[in-house]
Amino acid sequence: MKLIIHGGFFSESSTSLETKIAKQEALKRILLNSYDFLESHSALETVIYAVEQLEDDLLFNAGIGSQIQSDGKIRMSASVMDGSSKKFSGVINIENVKNPIRVAERLMSYDDRVLGGEGAIKFARDNDFAEFNPEIPQRRLEFEEKLKSLGTGTVGCVALDKTGKIAAATSTGGKGFEMPGRISDSATTAGNYANEFCGISCTGVGEDIVSGAVATKIGIRMSDGFEIGAAVEKTFKELAEFDGFAGAIVLDAKGNFYHQDSHPSMVFASYDGEKFEVFR
Ligand code: ASP
Repeated sequence: MKLIIHGGFFSESSTSLETKIAKQEALKRILLNSYDFLESHSALETVIYAVEQLEDDLLFNAGIGSQIQSDGKIRMSASVMDGSSKKFSGVINIENVKNPIRVAERLMSYDDRVLGGEGAIKFARDNDFAEFNPEIPQRRLEFEEKLKSLGTGTVGCVALDKTGKIAAATSTGGKGFEMPGRISDSATTAGNYANEFCGISCTGVGEDIVSGAVATKIGIRMSDGFEIGAAVEKTFKELAEFDGFAGAIVLDAKGNFYHQDSHPSMVFASYDGEKFEVFR
């Protein structure tokens, strides 16, 4: 069993030591808690469980504490992919729900599995997801002062369970100040992907991640026989050709972890039952 989670990017210049430590502690708590859960649940159930907790933590830009868009509203995106069945489901630009990842999970059993905007909101209400405002005062203040929210981050998780199955989940509050209608990478296979060889969750500039098809390329390279490091490095080399800004966490079926970032450093933590690693 292996588990890796992320909470977006970290920039030494814009994050206080206090926030850095708080993020390290939050990731550790959520990772260990989710690893316990993985003992008796599938990879698919566990990535959703972990991402739900990351959404609920105000330190991260997903669910509660999401960024505010240019028209003053919060719109969130989240997706999940099951590496064994290859099913992908997600919500794009959903509003007023507490846990977008749970709505994505609910969509797994439908034929129409990726819903956007009004359709996603209606689906959530029809399925008893209560109205919930994910805004926190700090984000409103940053929005009013036209400040980019510093130090928040998209969240994600990749798990490998006892049966060797892999799943990946990703959730975001977006980049902040975006045009209403913008589609980020988080609920696309460029930002979140899993197959029987590996699982990948990305963070960074959504447009760059989509242009670079980051998660998809890593997944395809690994299914074509690349080792984890070579698959990630080649994909990030291609991203660098257009100065793309992205980070990814990757876990393969052999149990290898990998993380890579194009610019600053990723906020991540991994655990294999013995060795715990967290970003520094
Ligand atoms: N990828 C997200 C987006 O572009 C933002 C992030 O990862 O911080 O919406």
